[in-house]
Amino acid sequence: MVAKTFRGGVHPPEYKELTESSAIEALPPPEKVIVPLIQHIGAPCQPAVADETVLKKGDSVCLGEKIGDTDAFVSAPVHASVSGEVMEIGEARLVDGRKVPAVVIESDGEDRPCESIQPAASLENLTPDEIKEIIREAGIVGMGGAAFPCHVKYSPPEGIELDTIIINGCECEPFLTCDDRLMREDPGEIVFGLQAILKATGAERGVIAVENNKPDAIEAMRAAVDGTSLEVVIVETKYPEGAEKQLIKAVTDREVPSGGLPFQIGVVVNNVATAASIARAVKTGMPLYERIVTVSGDVVARPANLLVRIGTPIRELFEYCGGFTEPPARIIAGGPMMGQAVGDLDIPVVKGMSGLLAVSSEISAYHEEEPCIRCGRCVDVCPAFLMPLYAARYPDDEALEYDPLDCIECGSCAYICPANQRLLARIRLAKAEAQARADAAG
Ligand code: SF4
Ligand code: SF4
Repeated sequence: MVAKTFRGGVHPPEYKELTESSAIEALPPPEKVIVPLIQHIGAPCQPAVADETVLKKGDSVCLGEKIGDTDAFVSAPVHASVSGEVMEIGEARLVDGRKVPAVVIESDGEDRPCESIQPAASLENLTPDEIKEIIREAGIVGMGGAAFPCHVKYSPPEGIELDTIIINGCECEPFLTCDDRLMREDPGEIVFGLQAILKATGAERGVIAVENNKPDAIEAMRAAVDGTSLEVVIVETKYPEGAEKQLIKAVTDREVPSGGLPFQIGVVVNNVATAASIARAVKTGMPLYERIVTVSGDVVARPANLLVRIGTPIRELFEYCGGFTEPPARIIAGGPMMGQAVGDLDIPVVKGMSGLLAVSSEISAYHEEEPCIRCGRCVDVCPAFLMPLYAARYPDDEALEYDPLDCIECGSCAYICPANQRLLARIRLAKAEAQARADAAG
């Protein structure tokens, strides 16, 4: 069977052998968690408990208790990932360097779940609005990295109907294997989550897309959808196969319009971990308070896939994995292609953090930038049909004529460039400027 794909893309070394055979291990709950009040795209939460009283230092919280919320529609509440006492409403630094408000909780070591958390009615007896409300209250956001609130994704503007839900099991970034392991170890939860999303949105077609370098995951997902109307679609192993617009093109042959969003063509894409979290919220009432993180890299003593409480300092994940065999040249949150360099091991795990990498200079070598030789390779690989060499001429105004807003920031151009041009870094700046001008123009 020919695997589906998109135009462009690159084939970086995979490095998945470091963790693909490592079954998911639960990291023991930490003594202290730092839960940021913004872990999503949208409005930040305010510290609050379920009855909307303000959360304060000294308050006792139970596992899964809501500790932050807002009235804004585009947002997602956050929850206590351990039971214990609120030490402070302080600050956390995020991967991108921002300092944001956060709730710091000292664990009592008991992991007391909230008594008020109860399973919902069976999926058959829930209405679409009830399912969306469960998803909202559980604080579920896209866990592949984008962290967009799911209840918003499932509520398109009037007049737009969603017909296809794609569950993204591509995991095309090198090193990462947390989605692969989830598909192999818990495929039934992913299927249940997809069925809940279909009911919430009214969409008819449900697809689980997996790259063809994950035969065990494909087999597990095929067995799990057996007897249902859901499909497992095999896509080519290529970066960035899991990017939203590229995956939609590969699976449905539809194109998201330039500057548009998937709902405009009736499609929603969610990561496999997101689907599994939705399943848990519907089945048990438990919100999103933990996630699987791949801890890998050539200088990690024992790379692993860890089930981790949100708010755990990333230092504890590396320590659990035996620390470093040599000082890392670079620590990265996410994958090496789209992830961000980390300079502070005290930052907490957040809902959208799928990987933590520590790599040597052999993998993370710095190469001097040389003049462009106009080879055109960046144009050949760009999955967004851009001309990166010209879009990267920013701050030259001419760069803005090359559609930087359509850049999905995959980094394929910078990866392939023989002259080591800092293409992505400059295109990001051009994109920010183009967005600012578009906003100013109304
Ligand atoms: S790949 Fe690099 S060297 Fe080749 S055209 Fe693009 S920017 Fe220039
Ligand atoms: S221009 Fe943007 S979308 Fe195109 S390859 Fe570069 S980073 Fe990816």
